[in-house]
Amino acid sequence: MPEKSEDVPVVVFPDVDPELPLTHPAIAMHLGIAKFTEGNVSEVLRRVVRLNEVFGFYPSEAITEGLVRRHIGQSLNWGLTQPEEFDEKITDIEYEHRHGKPRVVFVHIRIERPRPDQPCDIYQDIIQKSGEESRRVEVYEDGRHLWVEGNDDGTGRTDWEEAYAFPGLVILNARHGQIAKFIDESRFEKLWTRATSLDCAWIREGGHPCARQRDEEAHPWCGEHMGIARVLFPRLFEDAN
Ligand SMILES: [Zn+2]
Repeated sequence: MPEKSEDVPVVVFPDVDPELPLTHPAIAMHLGIAKFTEGNVSEVLRRVVRLNEVFGFYPSEAITEGLVRRHIGQSLNWGLTQPEEFDEKITDIEYEHRHGKPRVVFVHIRIERPRPDQPCDIYQDIIQKSGEESRRVEVYEDGRHLWVEGNDDGTGRTDWEEAYAFPGLVILNARHGQIAKFIDESRFEKLWTRATSLDCAWIREGGHPCARQRDEEAHPWCGEHMGIARVLFPRLFEDAN
């Protein structure tokens, strides 16, 4: 008797039908094809090849048009997904398979006309599968970089409604006054380091960063450079007390 934890339900899959292997639930539920037809042979073949790259169900030479054609006329009850949805899903699964953790994406949202209490740029680290945010950097017009990580508020938190569920780029971009796009991990990490660092963000002549610490956590500069900034860029401070 193999040891099994009592609260893990054991799912028993039927044997693979050698004539119709793609109808096996473990494969069919990922394929996202409602019915094998003459018209979808090439798309099914493409998906099986991709699935097999991740799971290695079969030796790759076994995956042929003939294998798919044997299934023509078979219906599946696992629903239908669009090619792009299938690609996104399988990329998530592959990532998790390889790295042992869910795939993350990095999103930049530019707010075109932010109010003074609103960030002008929002950068997020999102778990793609659930749409959940794990880290966020908010950049304000006065140069402040605030950050949030899970329940850790960093240097301040806004009640920004998109923080907890990423609705996808299409929905974000359909909203007036904002532009959203994916960015590279390295760009996010650079901003994250800057936001969470306590160093003054002032760049001296010749490109050398100021070596002192920030005056206050929520301000980007040390005391001296805050003073210079107030003289040089008074409009940045108009709304501050
Ligand atoms: Zn400084």
